[in-house]
Amino acid sequence: MRLGIISALAEEQQGLIEALQSPSRHVHGMREYTTGKLWEIDAVCVLSRIGKVAAAMTATILVEKFGVTHIVVTGVAGSGDKSVRVGDVVVADTLLQHDVDASPLFPRFEIPLTGLSSFATDLALTERLAIAAAPVTRVHRGLIASGDQFIGKLTQIQALKAALPDLLAVEMEGAAVAQVCFELGIPFAVIRTISDNANDDAAVDFMHFIKTVASRYAFDIIQNFCRA
Ligand code: SAH
Repeated sequence: MRLGIISALAEEQQGLIEALQSPSRHVHGMREYTTGKLWEIDAVCVLSRIGKVAAAMTATILVEKFGVTHIVVTGVAGSGDKSVRVGDVVVADTLLQHDVDASPLFPRFEIPLTGLSSFATDLALTERLAIAAAPVTRVHRGLIASGDQFIGKLTQIQALKAALPDLLAVEMEGAAVAQVCFELGIPFAVIRTISDNANDDAAVDFMHFIKTVASRYAFDIIQNFCRA
């Protein structure tokens, strides 16, 4: 396995780059890719920056230029369900791009010409991540939706939830990586720590939480994952 690890923000990957043994940095297309050994696993860590295009490009480069065979996305997300609380973790079983709407040509959410509106994660990687997260915090499994919007208004999250009753979390990159991995045939998984409730308080809670809690969770979970 050569594992690509993608996060959007530096705080979400804090510690992991320092933990890489024999690190080697490569700058390409405005991203810094650091290769090395992460607890015996051959790994490449990279910050995608925020949003679907940034994440899709990063995933593509990881595969095509750095030869990764598997991808894990870590980071934070807003809650998409009452049962999912700040500090819990959501491991995606499926991901969907909530801002895709080519209706009436295609049903809302369907990615044109794939016939799919959601992409399933790799089962083995997903279970390994869920097991790695279990000692760290409460874990949920299900649907994560991504779009090029920070969901920070109660009316926004309520409208999304009405359209997607199974929704557990909202973020801005996962489903873009999912589409790239589906098209390239790369097994992938996505794990997100809930940083906010995607409502009117979301922006306030957010930066403090990721610095103090989410970065530590991501580090502990990836360490358990690599050592498994
Ligand atoms: N305030 C930050 C911007 C973060 S954007 C800054 O100035 O840098 C939000 C990031 O966290 C995205 O990468 C997204 O994947 C995730 N995220 C967390 N909560 C979210 C929410 N409520 N809606 C959308 N994305 C969210």
